[in-house]
Amino acid sequence: MPVGTKATVKTVDPDELRALGATVILGNTYHLHFRPGEDLIEELGGLHRFMAWDGPILTDSGGFQIFSLRDTLLAVDDDGVTFRSVYDGKAERLTPELAARIQERLGSDIAMCLDICPPAGVPRHELEEAVRRTTVWAQKQRELPRAPGQLRFGITQGGLDAELRRRSSEELVPLGFDGYAIGGLSVGERRGPMFDATSLAASYLPHERARYFMGIGDPEGVLEVIARGIDMFDCVLPTRTARTGSALTWEGRLNLRNARFARDARPLDEHCGCPACTRHSRAYIRHLVNQQEILGLRLLSLHNLRFLLDLVREARQAIERSGFDSWKADALARLAVQPQEA
Ligand SMILES: [Zn+2]
Repeated sequence: MPVGTKATVKTVDPDELRALGATVILGNTYHLHFRPGEDLIEELGGLHRFMAWDGPILTDSGGFQIFSLRDTLLAVDDDGVTFRSVYDGKAERLTPELAARIQERLGSDIAMCLDICPPAGVPRHELEEAVRRTTVWAQKQRELPRAPGQLRFGITQGGLDAELRRRSSEELVPLGFDGYAIGGLSVGERRGPMFDATSLAASYLPHERARYFMGIGDPEGVLEVIARGIDMFDCVLPTRTARTGSALTWEGRLNLRNARFARDARPLDEHCGCPACTRHSRAYIRHLVNQQEILGLRLLSLHNLRFLLDLVREARQAIERSGFDSWKADALARLAVQPQEA
């Protein structure tokens, strides 16, 4: 899922998103709640109409922003969380009821439960308390009103702790959500333990429901979580990487600011059919990036999104022909060819 934080996948318009092969995108409840506000978006016909995207939209609950910006966190209790808005510093409160209400008014297709997502390395009692409150909040949200046809996903927590991951899933799954996310990972821990926890957490979730790993978007990471039973993931990585002047390719990540691309007439990636690769050279895109031309960032965003969407399309096809393991091994070997960057 490309991430459209503020009702836009940065620099990419909806027709382009569709042409790239995006099927579902993500919107951020936290940001939309403060600017421009769910009331205004509802008044103008809902989030799909507002941003002119008629495909599915998943909205997060807003909790991740609150819990990842630790210095804005004021207090957490069983009814909700109090924090300072990043927009004006005012004390604000988000409750399970409000998170559901905002998403109902935005009219997204998939609404996420408000959960507590602690950073990596917190003491176990803090992790345990996060699991307990996440369950309390999920129980409340199960029954709350939703937009017509809107699905609601629960989020399991527990960090890297095997016992807590099991407990969280065992408490959430009986509530009968439409899908389940694995939260509380990709928050600063090492990758090996993170993938182990993913395998474990996924094993406790029902096979017939979608499983969503929150916040992974590098090509290798995406393939590793797919191998562990994950169906959905989101990350700002393709568009954020683009805005730093880098391209995701089968030769690894290319930093277009590098002088070695100054006379490089090749496309970013020989295998890519995106608008950047079918028309432009690395030399041209390097020139745009170095001159801070907006088109450079747009072309890199289009390319990076296409690269990841093509990657997951290939993964899906490999799964369908029961050849995922060998396809993945081959893909990882190709991705491991990292050119040396200055
Ligand atoms: Zn491309």
